[in-house]
Amino acid sequence: MTAEVSRETDVDVISAPDAEVEFDTPIARAARAAMSVRGQGDTSWPRPGKCRVISVANQKGGVGKTTSTVNLAASLAMHGNRVLVVDLDPQGNASTALGMERDADSRSIYHCLVEDEEIRDLAHAVPDIDNLWCVPATIDLAGAEIELVSLVARESRLKRAFSAYDSSELDYILIDCPPSLGLLTVNAMVACEEVLIPIQCEYYALEGLGQLLRNVELVKSHLNPAMEISTILLTMYDGRTRLASQVADEVRGHFGDLVLKTLVPRSVRVSEAPSYGQSVMTYDPGSTGAVSYMEAAREIAHRAKMGAGNRS
Ligand code: ADP
Ligand code: MG
Repeated sequence: MTAEVSRETDVDVISAPDAEVEFDTPIARAARAAMSVRGQGDTSWPRPGKCRVISVANQKGGVGKTTSTVNLAASLAMHGNRVLVVDLDPQGNASTALGMERDADSRSIYHCLVEDEEIRDLAHAVPDIDNLWCVPATIDLAGAEIELVSLVARESRLKRAFSAYDSSELDYILIDCPPSLGLLTVNAMVACEEVLIPIQCEYYALEGLGQLLRNVELVKSHLNPAMEISTILLTMYDGRTRLASQVADEVRGHFGDLVLKTLVPRSVRVSEAPSYGQSVMTYDPGSTGAVSYMEAAREIAHRAKMGAGNRS
């Protein structure tokens, strides 16, 4: 009786024209991985003349800051660049996605900002991906916004930590900012030369952007003249909706060449990967999300090459 039921169920599953089931099979995944690898002839990307420090910032939550930080960093590392991710969000999502194990006693970027611990003592190798390291965040960081207020040079604690750290062996430092424009984000902006803004292709996408741009200008004019918005990345693009393409056009109209050609589509694989402590680049390398992040990272790496003359 039971056997019959389960046989019937099997038949049902096999004969059902269910795209999700087909999409999910290991063979389909392997095929996509193979195709994506075949499509990407250059396995080693240019390395910048000196370490590029990029803050991934947008005070809105849920626009893809963490996802973009993790997957761009993984893509760059998988193509011969040496990359450090600094998790500056008390939620610690980037640390989780990069497989950083933490407990109540773990040292984190908090100890760097507030207690002057050195970056090199806080960076851990990311499991399964060579050339990738992470300085994790712990929940202690939630108090840092307030604790920083009373410290000397509170806006430039991270910059000072980077200056004390020999980054000559690194090609990129990517800083995952929290969803606010408080002192943590200001520290990131003071410590970087480039800001990457992920923009989610949805109705409210552009709301609040003016405030972010004004903050960038304020930091630039008072604290860090070397900093520029270098890159805009359109995320969670749903090609089936007219709204998504309207938002993308509007962003391109406003920011022109700063916007990467590659759009990151909405993809279930991208959202599943962090719960396995992985980037989508290792979790499902052939998925549309992974391929898009790889393409976006390739654009960023090649822009570095174009700008190399300015850097040396
Ligand atoms: P932020 O760091 O800006 O708050 P996240 O990167 O954490 O944003 O993304 C917010 C949520 O959206 C997460 O649950 C994430 O898994 C999901 N997400 C991000 N990018 C995609 C995508 N391209 N497709 C599907 N889900 C995504
Ligand atoms: Mg985040």
